[in-house]
Amino acid sequence: GTHHAYADHGAGFCVFNDAAIAARLMQAERRAARVAIVDLDVHQGNGTASILARDDSVFTLSLHGENNYPFEKEQSDLDVALPDGIGDADYLATLQGALATLQQRFAPQLLIYLAGADPHEGDRLGKMKLSMAGLAARDETVFAYAREHKIPVAVTMAGGYGRDIEQTVAVHLQTIRLAGLHAARWSAR
Ligand SMILES: [Zn+2]
Repeated sequence: GTHHAYADHGAGFCVFNDAAIAARLMQAERRAARVAIVDLDVHQGNGTASILARDDSVFTLSLHGENNYPFEKEQSDLDVALPDGIGDADYLATLQGALATLQQRFAPQLLIYLAGADPHEGDRLGKMKLSMAGLAARDETVFAYAREHKIPVAVTMAGGYGRDIEQTVAVHLQTIRLAGLHAARWSAR
């Protein structure tokens, strides 16, 4: 989930933009024509937005803190700027709306999901107040959307700067566990 890397320079702890590269590779290998990058790290996916700005075959969606890094934002296909201190209920309602818009405007054939741990309430940089249960519901919301529309999902870790590092690890582990459940349900269809 190295979403701050640009085409010609790194930024914000990111050297190469893995999501943008993966999207283009999947297209080159003819596995998916229309790819959506769903970026739920707290920070805007500015590098991703910049790299794919003139590419109508990749839809960039970023939910991020309005008052957080990067302070000069790029334009994604859909940007949702969120206030400091947002909690589970408002976040989840906003995410539902954003995914509905994504489906309506683009109907992707592949999702690349950046599952940042930094929206967690214990994060030093995130400024959001999502609980562990809220983050589980976030992941489930993405997976349920993908299942409903039969869209394969690739999941990446992203940012996480917990005051307690164990908590950041727990958020990422939770995402991996839920992705495993989603994969099992997917193959059982
Ligand atoms: Zn981040």
